[in-house]
Amino acid sequence: MNIDLEIFSPIHQVTNPLFDVHGVKVYLKRDDLIHPMISGNKWRKLKYLLKAAQHQHKNHLVTFGGAYSNHLLATAAAAASFGFKATGIVRGEEVDNNTLFLCKLHGMQLQFTDRESYRDKPALFTKYFGADENAFFIDEGGSSAEGVQGCSELVDELTDTYDHIFCACGTGTTAAGIINGLTKHQYQTKFNAVPVFKNGGFIKDEIDKFLIPPVNYDLHIDYHFGGYGKATDELVIFVKQFVAATGIVIEPVYTGKMMYALYDLIGKGYFKPGSKILAIHSGGIWGLLGMKDRF
Ligand SMILES: *Cc1c(COP(=O)(O)O)cnc(C)c1O
Repeated sequence: MNIDLEIFSPIHQVTNPLFDVHGVKVYLKRDDLIHPMISGNKWRKLKYLLKAAQHQHKNHLVTFGGAYSNHLLATAAAAASFGFKATGIVRGEEVDNNTLFLCKLHGMQLQFTDRESYRDKPALFTKYFGADENAFFIDEGGSSAEGVQGCSELVDELTDTYDHIFCACGTGTTAAGIINGLTKHQYQTKFNAVPVFKNGGFIKDEIDKFLIPPVNYDLHIDYHFGGYGKATDELVIFVKQFVAATGIVIEPVYTGKMMYALYDLIGKGYFKPGSKILAIHSGGIWGLLGMKDRF
């Protein structure tokens, strides 16, 4: 089977009186529209991993994630779409939630594991699937050179140039891919990474190890709102207002933090008047279902 999705990721302008005051234009690349389940950057990260699995004649994808992982769901849906079996090794005691329901709906087998064992993913893979010659290891979040390669293709799709690109960061794979893509096209665009967890400075090492050649970019580490999966009321209110004002759904775990950072920096006069800014909507809107009680 040919492993590919037709990419539908248009660029939509977002307007706000704040942008006029500061003389900036803001656009959103709608990677959330690529697929309802294999959403956004998760498809870009999986594409070459699935091709590698196919090339090695391995038809069983084994991957890792927390109980709310967008990557687990994307892998489950991609596996179902392209004829693979899938196992998700889930961090923590057995639970049930909307994300895991959707994983199971797509036929993914779930294997819960304690937090201590979860740290050593290759050991877990060997323990459970060492004897399965069809098993193919995919790291948590799809972090890999293949993932970086897939994410760099986002830049190939651009038909316009921008002064800044903004992107939420978990593993940094998406950021590294986009930066490599900008380098390849010799764009002068400044990349802005917004880590979604506390002490996000370490993400620099994760991004830099994939960069060919090394490049300078900006890291905005003060928009974690308490840490991964955490949100303040201020962030939740921002997300609600953004969705109601634009009709574009974002959520508090990734894209909400990234957009909050962008709006905050615009308000602080961070950008030169005349700047064109492209924010990446990296998908993941099902994350909202795990945070309903905050809204
Ligand atoms: C997984 C995810 C990210 C983080 O991507 P990395 O490549 O791990 O940095 C960003 N946004 C959304 C919506 C995600 O689901």
